[in-house]
Amino acid sequence: MKLRKLLLFSFICFSGIAYSQNKKTSALPRPKLVVGLVVDQMRWDYLYRYYERYSNKGFKRLLNEGFSCENTYIPYIPTYTAIGHSTIYTGSIPAIHGIAGNDWLEQNNGRMEYCTEDTTVKAVGSTSKAGRMSPRNLWATTITDELKLATNFRSKVIGIALKDRGGILPVGHSANAAYWYDDLTGNWITSTYYMSDLPQWVKAFNEQRLVDKYLTQKWNTQYPIESYKQSSEDNSPRYEGKFKNEKGPIFPHDIAVNRTSDWSIIRNTPFANTLTFDFAKASIENEALGQDEVTDFLAVSLSSTDYLGHQFGPNSIEIEDTYLRLDNDLAAFLEHLDKTVGKGQYTIFLSADHGAAHNPIFLKDNKIPAGLWSGASGLKADISEINNILAKKYNTDKIVRRLFNYQVNFNYPLIEEKNLNLEEIKKDVIAYYKKQAGVSYVIDLKNIGIQPLPDALKSRTINGYNEKRSGEVQIILNPGWYQGSGNQATGTTHGTWNPYDTHIPLLFMGWGIKQGKSNQEYFMTDIASTIAALLRIQEPNGNVGKPIAEVIKLSLGSD
Ligand code: ZN
Ligand code: ZN
Ligand code: ZN
Repeated sequence: MKLRKLLLFSFICFSGIAYSQNKKTSALPRPKLVVGLVVDQMRWDYLYRYYERYSNKGFKRLLNEGFSCENTYIPYIPTYTAIGHSTIYTGSIPAIHGIAGNDWLEQNNGRMEYCTEDTTVKAVGSTSKAGRMSPRNLWATTITDELKLATNFRSKVIGIALKDRGGILPVGHSANAAYWYDDLTGNWITSTYYMSDLPQWVKAFNEQRLVDKYLTQKWNTQYPIESYKQSSEDNSPRYEGKFKNEKGPIFPHDIAVNRTSDWSIIRNTPFANTLTFDFAKASIENEALGQDEVTDFLAVSLSSTDYLGHQFGPNSIEIEDTYLRLDNDLAAFLEHLDKTVGKGQYTIFLSADHGAAHNPIFLKDNKIPAGLWSGASGLKADISEINNILAKKYNTDKIVRRLFNYQVNFNYPLIEEKNLNLEEIKKDVIAYYKKQAGVSYVIDLKNIGIQPLPDALKSRTINGYNEKRSGEVQIILNPGWYQGSGNQATGTTHGTWNPYDTHIPLLFMGWGIKQGKSNQEYFMTDIASTIAALLRIQEPNGNVGKPIAEVIKLSLGSD
């Protein structure tokens, strides 16, 4: 008996030791925090356009300490904000993840729908309509949903951006919170999709009213204005849009003088990037992100680069100054992560939702082909001309519902009711748009397989076409052209397949990431599965991308 007891005792002890040893050695190595940074409208070439003037601690730190995928492209059209954010985090494409534009027409009833609108929820932190948002229109999971599923929802996931779509879509369906900016109050808000009341720290942050401090500053160049060599002269009214009450698009921009009754103007200043980082830092501290053994995820999108790009265009001192200031803000943010989470304990990636064209007038002034396409033979961007042509032939008005996202949207209930031949109508519509200056292709999306198209255009068009949410005829413009009319001649936009819109930065740094660079061609859809491979979790459920093997360290600790 004594012997048996002894054996039993030693067995219990031994298995106890074995269990505790096992616990020590089998902890799966993962970063404490993953940070996704999306810079809205950042062209890849901005990494090098202003390279000489960046410090070593911002963009250059990512370039030097991390891994840069130098040739990363967007594999779909149209190239807009909501689609870019959805694609980065789902590894999927509009045809599958469902986000076919910032807005789209529901094809069955013609109703305009905004990507994150949700009338079943209410604002939290404001009475504004701006709060009635959720990710419900997104059909796929994001990499952050997969992290939640992989850790039995123990990971904390937070999304932050001025733009609701930039904060909501990246963190998918199961996030703890997404926060965005409310013009009505100047506060960070959310919706009842996530919670019923703002956390105390968000209330306290809003009560600081940093926004008011930023709005009383004049925007002057950070360095002497004559040192800005990469841009047209400051006063370039042919290419730059001015603020409402300004004489011209000239520094210093007196933000207070141009304010309306609300707090929206901060969107069009570089100070909003600083405010976004302020809020992101507060979220790391107050939510204790990256402070325990379970990996957390913070997705931050910087929206002001896009608003400012639209207003001033890529060749302006305003954009040059915005990126030099962003470089400083980024440096401070990385330093903050080093201090709070620990150097080497987090993984960060930086990319963009799309790029932007040069201003067409600026290009033409410099003998480079470009143009504005209005969608009609006159300057006015409307569909009355095509509808008049169709009305004469088919005896029915308003056959075309809308020209939107470079797609022609048809009135299907009307076509059915009048028993019209849609195939005939499409032929007429295609013939009409094909004749217009600046149009290179007009594609019947339902029959794209039998049309002579270069592969690069064909695959991007198919990936972007969502039958329930896209128009049926796709218009592709010549290089250098975009949709706009006379009053949209200043600044710039995006939306096309061309490299200035689709060549995006992609940088990784930190835990598990090699140091280096590659000129191998990669796609926006590869980001989510690369993070999935790094974290050893399942890729999102609509993923079509591939992991970028060369950025990941082969040995990620003992396993
Ligand atoms: Zn954007
Ligand atoms: Zn200017
Ligand atoms: Zn934009």
